[in-house]
Amino acid sequence: MEKKYLIKYSEIGIKGKNRHLFEDMLVKNIKAALRLVLTESYSVRKSDGRIYVIGDDSENDEIISAVTKVFGVAGIAPLTQYEKCGIDELKEHVIRYIEDNYENRDFTFKVNARRADKTYPLTSVDVNVLVGEAVLNAFPETKVDVHEPEVSIYIEIRPVDVNIYSTIYPGPGGMPVGSSGRAMLLLSGGIDSPVAGYLVSKRGVSVDAVYFHAPPYTSERAKQKVVDLAKIISAYTGPIRLHVVNFTDIQMKIYEVCPHDELTIIMRRYMMRLAEHFAAERGCLGLVTGESIGQVASQTMQSMLCTNAVCSLPVYRPLCGFDKLDIVDISERIGAYETSILPFEDCCTIFVAKHPVTKPRLDRIERSEKKLEGKIEELYRQAIETVEIIEI
Ligand code: ATP
Ligand code: MG
Repeated sequence: MEKKYLIKYSEIGIKGKNRHLFEDMLVKNIKAALRLVLTESYSVRKSDGRIYVIGDDSENDEIISAVTKVFGVAGIAPLTQYEKCGIDELKEHVIRYIEDNYENRDFTFKVNARRADKTYPLTSVDVNVLVGEAVLNAFPETKVDVHEPEVSIYIEIRPVDVNIYSTIYPGPGGMPVGSSGRAMLLLSGGIDSPVAGYLVSKRGVSVDAVYFHAPPYTSERAKQKVVDLAKIISAYTGPIRLHVVNFTDIQMKIYEVCPHDELTIIMRRYMMRLAEHFAAERGCLGLVTGESIGQVASQTMQSMLCTNAVCSLPVYRPLCGFDKLDIVDISERIGAYETSILPFEDCCTIFVAKHPVTKPRLDRIERSEKKLEGKIEELYRQAIETVEIIEI
């Protein structure tokens, strides 16, 4: 049977003249999310400044699970819609609504009416009082609590119809993906970078990704793990073009030529350069990493100054102020954690020095890198030429 849902959105509601652009983008993204999971027919449409999803009630769970992952959605409320009516009929509708949706009516409640149709003969407060009385009479086991009700009954009186709903499933908030440009995420198999991708995307950013692997030192399964992580976050970010770069030769050359305690920093600088190359190809406006200040030696402010120095694009580090535990919380919430902690080797951990520099100096790093001149350019070109593209 057909079922209707009201989409609530907050932040994009205040964007003035751009509002309709944001709404259209949100509609498009909700459609795309539903397309992936629904088999029955459905539609998403705008009407009088509201977005509605109409689906089949057999797919209620799929609809709620997909829509609550779409950035820009503050909440989704399954609703019952009636033709616009007078107060007596409205009371009956609300009583029927409670009968249909609540077996146990031993709850406190509040009626929350809104008139989009200001010609309605009663004010919202009148409606609250009259409908509230009717509910108390029909179900003596209920009680009114206007401050912390267990059930809030929302009534929206609209020009041609009336919406009644009482359950709002919270969405992720944020802004619709596509409203802020595109960024290139350096995606490793760890906990942090998928969360970083999730967070920038929450601000409306479309995401592509680059993963550096080092076969045969890193396995096919380590790569598969990154593909799986990209799939997990793509439920939020939308489609991702994943660039898988073979980094082995570059890594070996650095290992051969440069001081071992500077290896991680120099490697990172090459990752950033390559990421920027693919970012330019894709029209990205920034890079994104999962770095957090001080988390490990390569993430001190001195280290980040050195890696940042090779970039001309802004590098977004949405986790820079987060503790690991906070990052783990988000990782669990978005469903990435179980995959992130699978124990596969990472290309960076293979050649790491026992005592990496924790406060590298840019001039020294640049001096060490000079030793690669004439030896690394060809390897760099090959890494670009042999990139494997996976559309997620
Ligand atoms: P993560 O949990 O994201 O792997 P981490 O705590 O392991 O991060 P590092 O290994 O220092 O930290 O990596 C810092 C950041 O550099 C990562 O968050 C990621 O953005 C990027 N990065 C590291 N290794 C790779 C890789 N092999 N491919 C792509 N990006 C990488
Ligand atoms: Mg890592």
